Amino acid sequence: MSQIPGQLQALACEDCPAELSVSRGTGLLGLVLVVAVEHEPSCPWLARCAPGGAVRSTARGVVIHSARSA
Ligand SMILES: [Zn+2]
Repeated sequence: MSQIPGQLQALACEDCPAELSVSRGTGLLGLVLVVAVEHEPSCPWLARCAPGGAVRSTARGVVIHSARSA
């Protein structure tokens, strides 16, 4: 976790202590960041915004939201 830049921590959840994992992938425009955000299963944000999980593309990469398997 200490290796994750603060810029990326801004992508994490405000409603639960989500865990970030970051990897690099190759997209149409070259290297992209793939950020996986694992939320607590009880996370209110996840329940409200992405109850089944979500994949969001941004200019800088892809953010995948999912619930942490208990
Ligand atoms: Zn969350």
